This record gives sequence, C-alpha cells and structure tokens, in this order.
Amino acid sequence: MPREVIVIGAGIIGASIAWHLAKAGAKVTILDKAEPGGVATPCSFGWINASFGNPEPYYRLRIRAMAEWKRLAAEVPNLPVRWQGGLCWDRPRSELETLGAEHSSWGYGVRKLGRDEVARIEPNLADPPDFALLVAEEGAAEPQASARMLVIDAQRHGARLIAGGEAIALHAGGTSRARVETNDGTLEADEIVLAAGGASADLAASSGVSLPMKTPPGLLVHSRPYAPLLNGLVMADRLHMRQTAEGRLVAGADYGGADPGPNAEATARRLFDTMRSMLEGAGALEYDSYTLGFRPTPLDGFPALGRPKGIENLYVAVTHSGVTLAPAIGLFAAQEILDSIRDPLLAPYRADRFD
Ligand SMILES: Cc1cc2nc3c(=O)[nH]c(=O)nc-3n(C[C@H](O)[C@H](O)[C@H](O)COP(=O)(O)OP(=O)(O)OC[C@H]3O[C@@H](n4cnc5c(N)ncnc54)[C@H](O)[C@@H]3O)c2cc1C
Repeated sequence: MPREVIVIGAGIIGASIAWHLAKAGAKVTILDKAEPGGVATPCSFGWINASFGNPEPYYRLRIRAMAEWKRLAAEVPNLPVRWQGGLCWDRPRSELETLGAEHSSWGYGVRKLGRDEVARIEPNLADPPDFALLVAEEGAAEPQASARMLVIDAQRHGARLIAGGEAIALHAGGTSRARVETNDGTLEADEIVLAAGGASADLAASSGVSLPMKTPPGLLVHSRPYAPLLNGLVMADRLHMRQTAEGRLVAGADYGGADPGPNAEATARRLFDTMRSMLEGAGALEYDSYTLGFRPTPLDGFPALGRPKGIENLYVAVTHSGVTLAPAIGLFAAQEILDSIRDPLLAPYRADRFD
C-alpha cells in the first residue's frame, strides 16, 4: 500500500513536498484554504542563492538547493526559473571582500568586478559601482507560477488537490492514524505535512507542538512590463532589483523587501522612483503595484524541518528563503517520510530543536 500523506499548504514549500511525494509514489492529498500558489510565495523576490552572511552549514544546504532547482527544472518542463547571475554591492567594500573570500573558500563562484566590468554586465545602470561581487550561478524563480506548476504536475502524478479546504486542527502522535479536522469534515492519513507558512505555528499548537515563529514584513514594488533593462539580479546599496520573465521590474529595499513603514503605498512609490533613477532608459517605466508579504520564519531565523520529538506522523516544513530551498526540502521530506532517510544537511535545522 502506498503511504498516504496530507500536505497542508500549497505555497512553494508544500507544492514541492507534494510533488516529490507524488512522484515517489505516495498517495498525496494537498489541502489549501485558498487556491494553490501560497500567501508569502507570491510576495517573494524569488532570488535563488547561497549568498553572503550565513553560517557554513546553512550555505551548504542552500548550495545543494540550488543544484536541486536544476534537477527539478529538468523534470518539470517550463518551470519558470532562470540562472542570470547576481551582482552585489549592498554593503561596504571591506565587508564584501571578507564575505566574498569566505564564500569562495567554501566553493561559491564569486568574482570581484570593477566599474567597467559591472557596466558591461548591466549596461543600463546609470551609475555602476566601483566594486561589486558577481555570482554567475545565482538565479531567480517566478515563485507563485512555480508553486502552481508543481501542484499541477503533482496532480499528474496522482495527487488530489482540495482547494478551499482549511485545516482547523491536527491530531498527530500516538498509535492511531493522523487526522486533520477541516472546514469540511475530517481527513485521515499515515502522515501530515505541515507547510502552511505563517499559519503553521497555530496549527502545530493544535497538535501540542511548539513552533515559535516570527513573520517580518517585506514590501516589493512592481513596474508594468517593460523592454529589457536588466540582465540579471542586482543587489545594489540602495535596493535590490530584477526583471521578471514577463518584463516587470521588481525591487525591494533590501533582499526580498523591507518593512513598509506607516504608509506602504508611499514607501512603494519612493522605492519605484529610486529604481527608475538607477536605470538608463527607464524614463517611460510605469509603476504598477506593490506587494506586502510576511516571511514565515522560525524564531532563530533558520528552517524548521522534520518531525517534532516523539511524533512520527507529522512533518513540519517552515522556513524563510523558501524559494531557494523548496526543491531540496521537497526531496529531503519525501525521502524521510517514505524511506526513513534523514539527510545530514538538515541536522542543524530540525523542527524538534524547539521542543
Ligand atoms: C517580501 C519577501 C521577499 C522574499 N524574498 C525571497 C527571496 O528572494 N528568496 C527566497 O528564497 N525566499 C524569499 N522569501 C521567502 C519565501 O517567499 C518564503 O520562505 C516562502 O514563500 C514560504 O513558502 P510557504 O509555502 O512556506 O508559505 P506560503 O507561500 O505562505 O504558503 C502557505 C500556504 O498554506 C496555506 N494555508 C495556510 N493556513 C492554512 C490552513 N489552515 N489550511 C489549509 N491551508 C492553509 C495558505 O493558503 C498558503 O497557500 C521572501 C519572502 C517575502 C515575504
């Protein structure tokens, strides 16, 4: 009998786990209180990276996730992911030099560039910096579209989707089957995957599991589609920006967007003006909208993955940087749930550290 698994949440994390489980032959039910695509996921900057300022074990997990994106993109046709490279000068030169040297020693493909080289890579920058780091292996995914495609492909592998199905409470642990009380009755399975993003702490608590979280806000501004202005990701000192596959320029005040302050619309308009002033040829660029997302983040800032202590039929998957990590998390979760294989890369990030 295939193992039956209920995946709660169809953002990028739940979608990837559901896809990997279904592909491996599990009987998967995906439950989302809305349509697939997520809540934090559509508000994400979508940068796939193992970039600066993280401890080495987290770097190792992220670099593996970047490789898993390539594997996933080969398995799911048309997944919207592109490897355009990331240019970075979002901190003082001395700090960039130190972080660049550290990451190079770990194997990250970091190159130091001067102003002329930056201008060659991004010819539309109005004022290229004198010094920047380039990581050619970084990329970006269109996060919501990726999550939706993974759900559709998981359905092709036999998964069942219940859109509009809200989990109210979880019953896991003990010897009986796991149960999810929903807005439309109770579902049973061998295991529950909790990938409900910012809503995960309350659902975990309903099963007696502690999952301390914070959900810091992040604002991004989006232009209307425009002629190509950027070749890759640009992490500049004033903002981070990239151009999407459909030509929209997206910017956040720092990686993945910053706090909107008291007037989000005004903050978004200011950010838009800054972005436009940084690009030659952007005179006709038009403001479209802003998004305000809340990053599902375990309290210590690192992923919370795996089964809580003493509970064998609940797998928790909550993290920031979920766009980067999703393919690796999906793979590792499926291996653990179906084959009891625990990937050592997850050792520092197991959910039971909060018990
Ligand atoms: C502004 C911003 C910028 C970011 N930039 C980056 C970046 O550049 N790179 C990167 O790697 N990461 C980035 N992130 C982080 C990344 O977006 C998140 O880690 C990721 O989207 C989390 O995905 P998720 O599937 O866990 O959550 P979500 O996308 O929030 O999905 C959770 C799903 O669970 C469902 N759900 C909730 N409660 C219930 C319930 N009771 N019953 C059923 N379903 C339920 C929701 O409807 C939703 O579909 C950014 C985040 C933000 C906000």
